[in-house]
Amino acid sequence: MKKTLICLDRDGTLIYDKKYHLGRTDDWKSKIKILPTVIEGLRLLRTLPNVAIYIITNQPGVAIREFPLLTLDRAHEVNRYILTEIAKMGGQIDGYFLCPHTNLQYVKKKTNYHFDEKMVCECECEKPKSGMVFDALKSERLTREEAILYVIGDRSSDVETALNINGRGILIPFENEPRHFEKIKKLDQANVYIARDFLDAAQFIVDQNKSKKYTHQNTNRRKV
Ligand SMILES: [Mg+2]
Ligand SMILES: [Zn+2]
Repeated sequence: MKKTLICLDRDGTLIYDKKYHLGRTDDWKSKIKILPTVIEGLRLLRTLPNVAIYIITNQPGVAIREFPLLTLDRAHEVNRYILTEIAKMGGQIDGYFLCPHTNLQYVKKKTNYHFDEKMVCECECEKPKSGMVFDALKSERLTREEAILYVIGDRSSDVETALNINGRGILIPFENEPRHFEKIKKLDQANVYIARDFLDAAQFIVDQNKSKKYTHQNTNRRKV
């Protein structure tokens, strides 16, 4: 039986995203607000028979010199804390992967910031590249073929991360700029779903899982 691997974006998907680069101030814990239906959705996902759930998050703020408190250690601390808080509320996430890098286009765009050159690179982990999904597969000791893959996020780059590795991408819009919808329209619609909220995204995955089972049973019946 294949395992369902679900990779979740963090900011704007699990928690409110106010573009403040969580962890750059000492009061970061007070800024974390879990979004509505996230815990309910995570509980529903756990009803799948064979499932693993990971956060995959781009944290380019680590590379920004103007945020000296947002070190790589701090970025890990923030993720660990979010996992613990979600667990306390009844949501179970197996782990997280973070990309602390940033690329040249981002640097050029953010002219008001200065960047740590060591962190500016063309890494394999920054979404929409699939490095962090491969990390999640590895930590589950799965090959790509052994997993049914979903990525849930609030940006087209999250959906593209899924499509880049032949998975399904689910967009949950969160105060998104229209350009995300424009980008989404250009992607392979057969593997894209736009959800109302986190619970709807979870329900979509559970329904997909059920319909796969039906297909399987029907095939068997025909053979008999
Ligand atoms: Mg996001
Ligand atoms: Zn990276």
